[in-house]
Amino acid sequence: MRLLVVEDEHDLADAIAEGLRQEGYAVDVAYDGETGRRKALGRPYDLVCLDLSLPRVDGREVLRALRDAGRDDGAAAQRVLVLTARDALDDRIAGLDDGADDYLVKPFEFRELTARIRALLRRRAGAAGAVVRVGDLALDDARHVARRADVDLGLTPKEFALLRYLMSRADEVISEGELLRHVWDENANPFTNTVRVTVGTLRRKLGRDGADQPLETVVGSGYRLRSSG
Ligand code: CA
Repeated sequence: MRLLVVEDEHDLADAIAEGLRQEGYAVDVAYDGETGRRKALGRPYDLVCLDLSLPRVDGREVLRALRDAGRDDGAAAQRVLVLTARDALDDRIAGLDDGADDYLVKPFEFRELTARIRALLRRRAGAAGAVVRVGDLALDDARHVARRADVDLGLTPKEFALLRYLMSRADEVISEGELLRHVWDENANPFTNTVRVTVGTLRRKLGRDGADQPLETVVGSGYRLRSSG
C-alpha cells in the first residue's frame, strides 16, 4: 500500500513517514498544500494523510481537489485521513463534509494513527476483520504476521507489504509497474529489478516444503495471486 503524508511540520511529517515505513507501507511526503495536491492528483495513492492547516494551498482545498478528481475519472476515490488541531471542531466538521474518511486530533499516539489507517485500508479492500484471508493464506495486519496453513511465513516488511497488496487484489493480474507504484515509494528506482527480487523471495517462502505455489507469473503481464488451486 502506498501512502502520502501532507504535513507542514517537517519533524512530524518525517516521523509519521518513518513510522509508517516500518509498518511496511510505501510512503511519500509533501510539506505544503500545493505539493501535496500535485502529488496526490498525480498518483493513485491508497491513502492520503492530510493536515488541514497548510501553507500555500489549504488542506480543505486539497481535499476538495481530490474528491473532484475522483468523481471525474470514475476511479475509486483515495482514502483521506485528516489531521487537525485539538480546538478546531469547525475544521473537523468541514473536513468530513468535504469528504474526509476519518480524522485524528493532534497530538495523537502513533499507534492510533496506524490503527485508523489499517481500518481505512481494510474498508477500501472490502474486508471485514483485522485478518485478511485468501485461500490458505492469512494476513494479520495489526500483528504484522502472514501465515500459510497456520505456519508463520517469516516475511520481511517489504515481502509483507507486497503480499498485503496482492491479497487485496487476489486473482487479478497485477503488473510490475502497478506493484512498483503501490508497494514502493518515490525513492525506488524504476529501472532496477527490485519488484522481481522481492517477488522471488516471497515465492520461495510461500512455496516452502513443496507447498503448491499460489503466486503465478503471467508472462508479459505481471503477477497473480490465486485464491484457490
Ligand atoms: Ca499544519
